[in-house]
Amino acid sequence: AQISQAEFVKSSVRTEDCPSDGLPEFALVGRSNVGKSSLLNSIVEKLVGKTQCINHFRINDSWYLVDLPGYGYAAAPQELRTDWSKFTKDYFLNRSTLVSVFLLIDASIPAKKIDLEYASWLGQNQIPMTLIFTKCDKRKKKRHGGKRAEENVEDFQDLIREYFQAAPPWIMTSSVTNQGRDEMLLHMAQLRNY
Ligand code: GDP
Repeated sequence: AQISQAEFVKSSVRTEDCPSDGLPEFALVGRSNVGKSSLLNSIVEKLVGKTQCINHFRINDSWYLVDLPGYGYAAAPQELRTDWSKFTKDYFLNRSTLVSVFLLIDASIPAKKIDLEYASWLGQNQIPMTLIFTKCDKRKKKRHGGKRAEENVEDFQDLIREYFQAAPPWIMTSSVTNQGRDEMLLHMAQLRNY
């Protein structure tokens, strides 16, 4: 599972405007500052900055990586936040070629309410989800409860279990060490071949 070609295709603000060639796709989403641009850049190499749209990247001419707007910007006014969630919810519910949502969760801090809400919404709506834990290289900090990435990862999974029929697949990653990069690519290849 290697990437030989990656090409930015388009930015869309509505699900209806997304590419219509039917190729399977995986959507990356997460709280602002979770490390989404770093992870995407470590996979697709220097393609992205901040996004407020649905950005499609075609990989090896056969599938899409989709960058969705981050959520939970502390500075954003409430109206704007609601807007983003409406627009991504429409995408999650109506995009028939979406294979799995890759929800990014910062493993260096304890579970955040907004991330638990996001994950439980996906579970309740039966949207296929893979948990991508980010920043797994970070050392524990006392002020964050002194937990290691592995403990935060376990806690998060415990907290969302009730919303899912089967425990969602999960991958531990770091954009600093590239931990999890190959595992993510392999996981996407396996899901595409179902
Ligand atoms: P985004 O807002 O989700 O796109 O997040 P960014 O990719 O811009 O990253 C936010 C901050 O987290 C930056 O300061 C990054 O350097 C840092 N960061 C991102 N990924 C990692 C990681 O895997 N490990 C560590 N230690 N820091 C990271």
